[in-house]
Amino acid sequence: MLASLQLALDKRKDEGLLRQRRLLDSPQAEHIVANNQPYLSFCSNDYLGLANHPKLIAAMQKAAGDSGVGSGASNLITGHHRYHDDLEKQLAKFVGLPAALLFSTGYMANIGVLGALVGRGDAIFADKLNHACLNDGGYYSLAEFNRFAHNDVAALEILLKASAAKHKLIAVDAVFSMDGDIAPLAEYLALCEKYDAYLYVDDAHGFGVLGKHGEGLLNHLNLQSPRIIMMATLGKAAGVAGAFVAGEKVVIDYLIQTAKSYVYSTPAPPALSATLSASVSLIEQGDDLRAHLRSLISYFKDNLNCKKWQLMPSETSVQPLLVGDNLEALALSEYLQTRGILVPAIRPPTVPVGTARLRISISAAHSLDDIKNLITAIHQAELAL
Ligand SMILES: *Cc1c(COP(=O)(O)O)cnc(C)c1O
Repeated sequence: MLASLQLALDKRKDEGLLRQRRLLDSPQAEHIVANNQPYLSFCSNDYLGLANHPKLIAAMQKAAGDSGVGSGASNLITGHHRYHDDLEKQLAKFVGLPAALLFSTGYMANIGVLGALVGRGDAIFADKLNHACLNDGGYYSLAEFNRFAHNDVAALEILLKASAAKHKLIAVDAVFSMDGDIAPLAEYLALCEKYDAYLYVDDAHGFGVLGKHGEGLLNHLNLQSPRIIMMATLGKAAGVAGAFVAGEKVVIDYLIQTAKSYVYSTPAPPALSATLSASVSLIEQGDDLRAHLRSLISYFKDNLNCKKWQLMPSETSVQPLLVGDNLEALALSEYLQTRGILVPAIRPPTVPVGTARLRISISAAHSLDDIKNLITAIHQAELAL
């Protein structure tokens, strides 16, 4: 086995697919120290710049002082602290759904929820570009797993129409993590009504950023229905770690009993929930941050004038620059790095073969000068490569 592992690693390296971890010696921010070098970073999903916010650091220090650093046991034993409970109530109220449940990560949430809500005899309908953990959740659930072409409402309808499954669940990213575009959720909800299906929305990249005060894409699109189950992660715009699922009370009550990654796992420390409560308040009051973020995104889209590589159609913080070839994407990323700018090259299997790209992630923590520097560097890369 060890020899075949080495062969597989060598093959990845030859194909330009071997990933390297950078060693970070600073807080997560727009200016970081990685591998002992200072960089301007467009890598993180900390879209509001909260990961290093003084109020959140203070909240975590205080909560560690009065609740300790560990949860000690799973939620159903003695691990469910008042800080967890307060955060769940706060999140439900914030996103306007009856109840919410915390998970320790988004990955755990998707696996746990899909595994609990559907099974043999049921069917999941998933966008082909969904995040990997929605696929894993789908396989794990043992429900029939149907994938449809990206954002293709008509293709989804054909599948729903033909399905004889007992329970039908449409499961999609709200904002696609490597493309930055958004799912046609209103159309999906109409299909749910028509075919008695439910809609599971993974809003990892919309929560905190979209919506009237950062509630996410469902709020942005003004969608409400007992057929909706929302998930969002708390390690992206919320700046900390974790995830929650929100929906009808019966759904949440059922998940508490049956979502295995909830029942059989130790919750994140209560101090983390206390920190997140402070973060959700900052999100709610963060209209200025979101306005600044939107202005940076517009400036970037209006002023990048690149012939060789195309910006993909995205209005969100995720601005992918499509390169195509793996090695060329890597070369562009490396060129920017020599200019002191970090932007990750995203390659298969994270994205489809032939669509390697730079995933430029813009945050409210960036200044206009940061964006100008990035644009200049990409223009120079176009001449240099
Ligand atoms: C990041 C992400 C996840 C996983 O969330 P974690 O909390 O990082 O485990 C799930 N879904 C989508 C769409 C994501 O982008």
